[in-house]
Amino acid sequence: MINTNGFETEIKVAKLNALAKAGVVNAEGFYTVGGRTAVDFANSSRRFGKDGDGLEKLEELLTFLKSMGHLHEEEASSYHMYLFQNPDRCAETMNTLRHMRARFLAMLGQASNGWPIDPSFIAELNDHLLNFKTHLMLEPSEGGYVLTAKQSEQGPEQLLYPIFKDIAEFIVSDQLEKVRQCASDSCDLFFVNQSRNGRRRWCSMSTCGNRAKVNAYLKRQET
Ligand SMILES: [Zn+2]
Repeated sequence: MINTNGFETEIKVAKLNALAKAGVVNAEGFYTVGGRTAVDFANSSRRFGKDGDGLEKLEELLTFLKSMGHLHEEEASSYHMYLFQNPDRCAETMNTLRHMRARFLAMLGQASNGWPIDPSFIAELNDHLLNFKTHLMLEPSEGGYVLTAKQSEQGPEQLLYPIFKDIAEFIVSDQLEKVRQCASDSCDLFFVNQSRNGRRRWCSMSTCGNRAKVNAYLKRQET
């Protein structure tokens, strides 16, 4: 993921580890301050250690889904074959995903300001949900079986399912009205404000929160 060499790489790796330890990003550099797949996905245009969009290529989506616990290693490798068989279809899938992320971000921006949900976004999300066919299946697990919903069709588009499903679940949850954007001017990350007093203002205390505290302290020292 990190393409520079030598000393600079070491610093970046150390920084990544520190941010991961603080719960700001995961081991792959995706921001986890959103606290759930839908909101972390909204924040996924940024990825620590990478310039440009965090979800540019299908490989990156596979890494994102694996790091969020939605895809096993073996499943991910079976999706890799689509990159060779049908790169255009993979690129199209990523275009759809980024388009829906932009629309979802706009919706989050409105929701965080107390505005109602744009019905045209819901209609578009519903159109996508209509394309997913699932069936129930009993699978062996430790000490018995688990009932899981499996996707009936195959193709790179199926990778969008866990993300779109969580967006839909997020919209009907009590978390929607608690969504906020980081108060830092230099940060646009969204999070769900679940602090007991409801006063959380920053995506993370270990990054933006601390910076704001230090800045406020320095300002007090000046006067
Ligand atoms: Zn922030």
